[in-house]
Amino acid sequence: MHTMDPNQLRGLFLPKPYREQSEQLFGLIAHYLKDCAEQNHPRTIPYRHPAEQYDFWKAFQWESDRPEAFFREVIERTNHLHDPRNMGHQVAPPLPLAALAAGLGAQLNNGNAIYEMGMPVAVMERWVCEQMAGEFGFPEGARGFLTSGGTLANLTALLAARKVILPYDVWNEGTQESLGVMVSSQAHYCIDRAVRIMGMGGRGIVNVPVKADYTIDVTQLESRYNDARKSGIRVFAIVGSAPSTSTGNYDDMRALGAFAKEKGIWFHIDGAHGGSAVLSRKYRSLMDGAELADSIIIDGHKMMLMPALTTLLLFRKGEHSHRTFRQQADYLFDEGQDEDWYNLAKRTFECTKTMMGLQWYLLFKSYGTGLFDAYITRQYDLARAFAQRVTSRDHWEVATEPMSNIVCFRYLPPRVPSGERNGFQKWLRRQALEDGTYYIVETRLNGDAYLRVTLMSPFTEIHHLEDMLGFCERLSEKWSPSPVSGV
Ligand SMILES: *Cc1c(COP(=O)(O)O)cnc(C)c1O
Repeated sequence: MHTMDPNQLRGLFLPKPYREQSEQLFGLIAHYLKDCAEQNHPRTIPYRHPAEQYDFWKAFQWESDRPEAFFREVIERTNHLHDPRNMGHQVAPPLPLAALAAGLGAQLNNGNAIYEMGMPVAVMERWVCEQMAGEFGFPEGARGFLTSGGTLANLTALLAARKVILPYDVWNEGTQESLGVMVSSQAHYCIDRAVRIMGMGGRGIVNVPVKADYTIDVTQLESRYNDARKSGIRVFAIVGSAPSTSTGNYDDMRALGAFAKEKGIWFHIDGAHGGSAVLSRKYRSLMDGAELADSIIIDGHKMMLMPALTTLLLFRKGEHSHRTFRQQADYLFDEGQDEDWYNLAKRTFECTKTMMGLQWYLLFKSYGTGLFDAYITRQYDLARAFAQRVTSRDHWEVATEPMSNIVCFRYLPPRVPSGERNGFQKWLRRQALEDGTYYIVETRLNGDAYLRVTLMSPFTEIHHLEDMLGFCERLSEKWSPSPVSGV
């Protein structure tokens, strides 16, 4: 065992090692960014099998005051989200300035459960929420906060919905009947999880079928609602996806909002991926009707170029955000403070929370909404252009015309028998993963396998996407039909 005396311990906090280590680290990150922009990494995802990866890190050794080799290996071995050929999942390639703000927060570590624990970030959050509430056309008095991820934000919103809509005090008395939430069969799985966490069970998910474009079929709302009621379920909320994760297509917010109003239920928008489209002058109409929502979430770490994990949760009526948790923690909160917007833990799951307000505030103050307008518009435009190229190329097709920067598509060369089409997409995607030149993923729609890209890197151009299709065609040459079993 290594021993350390207190002097040595204090020495670790001094500026000298900090300057050296941060110079090394920031030098490496600057290199990483350059290599991504110029595609100098041979592979955008250096895929290795889990056991091999484990063996490497288990055996890895370095001198404790010289972490450079560690920094270097981490950069080499991780997914390069800024590389134009990285088009897999929805995680943002963070803007360097946003990552610096998060790094500052990591060092200062003011956990802002109550105001005095992190004063500037608490008010920055409020200011950012006001900016976004204005963009959505929410009335004066709309409020919100930042929380750790879309999954938690959706759960928090549904808890608020249950508290506000039910005529009894469910938080203190428990539920007294079967409850349900209406949601598209294409919604993110975390909605299903939230419903189950809230004790509603599987029957609490009232699935609404989707149309051919994978958005909610609004003509089915009434009958699904009535069916649920007939089977004894009180529906208290409906969730719209903006967009749904698999296909990237947006539900009709105005129709869902009108339906919720008519039934007296809560309308929540899961805008984790693309709620921020409201900041794109070209695409903001995708969010038409969002002003009808009772609550809406947006992930900073998806289409807003921020490091994970940070999600904005907005409430059209500010007072709703205070009613979710009526649990007393007397050592933290004084009674009777009017509204108390600055004591964030009254409204969030978290007690201690990262200083996530820093990155939002810094980006909004530095670049205004112009940054997000430019980014979202560019990435959504690119997806449309890509879908056209897919469609016009022999034997390729898209699942649906894209509305966002997510595209699902598949390759159907004639030599692949129709019974093997799904297996073929999966085989192709596995080959691509192990090769690692491009990072693409897969999804299943109506039982069929599709390849899927999310265009997150601002360096991705249409020629990278065309090259990726050619790359898949070349990989496919190695494919052979599976032997017929039992012959
Ligand atoms: C990504 C996503 C989520 C989950 O958000 P996390 O921040 O990953 O927890 C929820 N809903 C939708 C529509 C998403 O795209």
